[in-house]
Amino acid sequence: MNKALVLEQEEKKTLAGVRELSVDELPEGDVLVNIDYSSLNFKDGLAVTGAGKIVHQFPMVPGIDLAGTVAESDNPDYKPGDAVVLTGWSVGERYWGGYAQQMRLQSKWLVPLTEGLTGRQAMVIGTAGLTSMLCVMRLQEGGLKPEDGPVLVTGATGGVGSIVVALLAKNGFEVVAVSGKADSADYLKQLGASEVLPRSEFEEKARPLDKSRWAGAVDTVGGDILAKVLSQMHYNGRVATVGLAASHALNTTVMPFILRGVDLLGVDSVMIPYERRVQAWQRLADELPKEILEQVVEEVSLEQVPEYAQGIIEGKIRGRVLVNPNL
Ligand code: NDP
Repeated sequence: MNKALVLEQEEKKTLAGVRELSVDELPEGDVLVNIDYSSLNFKDGLAVTGAGKIVHQFPMVPGIDLAGTVAESDNPDYKPGDAVVLTGWSVGERYWGGYAQQMRLQSKWLVPLTEGLTGRQAMVIGTAGLTSMLCVMRLQEGGLKPEDGPVLVTGATGGVGSIVVALLAKNGFEVVAVSGKADSADYLKQLGASEVLPRSEFEEKARPLDKSRWAGAVDTVGGDILAKVLSQMHYNGRVATVGLAASHALNTTVMPFILRGVDLLGVDSVMIPYERRVQAWQRLADELPKEILEQVVEEVSLEQVPEYAQGIIEGKIRGRVLVNPNL
């Protein structure tokens, strides 16, 4: 038997409970994976609490990412014992995901575990960390260089924000972090931020153009904060937009784009092709200082996931939450 967190829906409410599932109850797929770790992302928080319409059908085993070893495979590219990682592809939303001890999956969703990382480290990174690297890649591919000036990161103590701060600092950028948590300065400075600004500074209504302050930005929160950031970008500034922790809305003007040539770069981690995933994982293995992974993590059992899911949607979690289905 296989322990899993299962979501059901009753009278439009999402109910989460740990259940024993037999292998026969798992969905179809060409690989069976023994899961060592999953993690808790903002999207998992929305799915588990039902606060967002993330789950396409019930019952659902959530968990948008996982790391483990192949137990059975019908694909010659994967054999039993291979260490693998999965993020995205609507797993944990449309298809059963990582909050289980074992899951049957499509092998096309997997990537081999990158050399230089353990499965545990891969899940401390998880979707949030992979996405952080994709943000950095988008900014760099857009031409942003450390000598252009400071780079702002919003929602900086979150899973994506924390790792973005560390990766930008490692790549030589001056990083200014924005956080709503009053006691976050030491944590963010340890990750590599040179300055930490209070979120309240960015919550006032934006003017069409404000004083030019930032060469680059990674915004994980959307809404009025993103509008404010856009109004403060340097000429030719680049902004990677990746999240909606505050709001999916964006009320801005065309001024930053037509008067300062600002680029707004979208970042998606769910549907990115295999080659770009492998490239991003390799850069994470090479560039993310391993000691940082231990600074940003808390490990929880399947039974604890609902409580932490509530915490992440309330913005109370700092760093990354690792889910160990075998605890
Ligand atoms: P977390 O909850 O870990 O981090 C979000 C952070 O945003 C919080 O820690 C908090 O940071 C800040 N925040 C929370 N609530 C608010 C609010 N109401 N107003 C302003 N700031 C707020 O989430 P993740 O890091 O996992 O994800 C961040 C965002 O990125 C989410 O919206 C998620 O859906 C999105 N995402 C998108 C992906 C993609 O493929 N495009 C992939 C992964 C995530 P602080 O207290 O420091 O301000």
